[in-house]
Amino acid sequence: MDIGGNRVNRWRQWIDPTLTDQELEQKYNEAYLPENISVTRISLWVWQLANIALVSMDYLFFGFGRMFFLLLFVRAAVFVYCGFVIHQLAKITEVHRFERLLFFCTLIGAGVFLLINYNRPATYLHHTVIDVVGLLCLYLLFPNRFLFRLIPALFLTIGSLALYLFVKTNISAVIIVVTFIGYTLTNFLGLLVSARLYSARRKEFLSRISEQAAQEKLARLALQDELTGIANRRNFYRQAEAEFAYFKRSRHPLSVLMIDIDHFKKVNDKFGHSVGDAVLVQFAAFVSSLVRQEDLFGRVGGEEFAVLLREAHTEQAMEIGRRICDGAAELSIPGAEADAWYTVSIGVASACLQDDSFESLLNRADKSLYEAKQAGRNRVVGDNTMMKPEGVLW
Ligand code: GH3
Ligand code: MG
Ligand code: MG
Repeated sequence: MDIGGNRVNRWRQWIDPTLTDQELEQKYNEAYLPENISVTRISLWVWQLANIALVSMDYLFFGFGRMFFLLLFVRAAVFVYCGFVIHQLAKITEVHRFERLLFFCTLIGAGVFLLINYNRPATYLHHTVIDVVGLLCLYLLFPNRFLFRLIPALFLTIGSLALYLFVKTNISAVIIVVTFIGYTLTNFLGLLVSARLYSARRKEFLSRISEQAAQEKLARLALQDELTGIANRRNFYRQAEAEFAYFKRSRHPLSVLMIDIDHFKKVNDKFGHSVGDAVLVQFAAFVSSLVRQEDLFGRVGGEEFAVLLREAHTEQAMEIGRRICDGAAELSIPGAEADAWYTVSIGVASACLQDDSFESLLNRADKSLYEAKQAGRNRVVGDNTMMKPEGVLW
């Protein structure tokens, strides 16, 4: 039962190679929409030109007879209709509107074709050329969904055969047999080629998507810390150096917090490395929610973090440091028993004109952090050695 179902599915997938993921299929259709629209417009223009050219064939066969003027009327109507569809296509931005328009356009096109065939003499452009090429174009040119292509193609096939068998009874048996074989082969070929064509298109799309995703991931990894999702060390330093350069020019206050989780080794030893990781993620999310969006927060070491605060002098930076320190002490270790917690130590320093690089500012914050550790951890220590420099806008 299942095997049968699988086989049916495989056949369905082979003939109508839609992507299994609906969202991906939608993306595929959106990605190809401009190209599909332009192919459709080109084929409609070709149809217009062929329509004009066929007027001279009508004249050749019917002269200025009643039939010629009847066909001229039909061709003029087709011309206006095609022009309208081409105009509509230029405005379309949604996949489902494109598919709907195309479906009705091909269905009406097949109907008009049958109507003209109804009055066409058997010798008027050999049928296997004009009918069969038109049928193949339905499969190949119109890139909408499979059923949208199949229904007009079947309509054209059955309509044309019925026309020859029941209306034009004076057509020789040879022509009917050739038409029948021609249509059968063309439908078969159309199914085969369009299935392969669209499946190749989808494969190309999938590989393009996965390549794009891989590149985006690489770009993200170059800037983001993989575990916590915040800025990585390199990213933090690069942005912080730019901020420091701005400080040098503008003399607007700039402060940095160096944060280190206390006795993190013990957390790992007691609860395991994965709980240690969860603590890092939790702490990073907590600090992210505390600092402003324009502040720079990064993971600069295993369990070391840094925050660069724009427009914040020492007192404000100390206040934020205290909030982080107190808040962290209230967080419980994820996945551990409720009374298991951790603390952090924070060193604070503010940029002064004596700092000749971001490195020297960071070194002072690091020294304060060391003092916080020495003083018993779970505290914030500011850099006292720094003198209030003239000219900084405090
Ligand atoms: P202190 O209070 O002096 O900072 O002590 P500590 O144990 O926190 O400091 P130490 O520098 O001795 O140890 C840091 C530990 O952090 C050691 C290392 O195994 C752990 N660590 C570093 N990176 C990661 C990580 O990505 N995940 C986990 N789970 N642990 C990490
Ligand atoms: Mg450390
Ligand atoms: Mg530590």
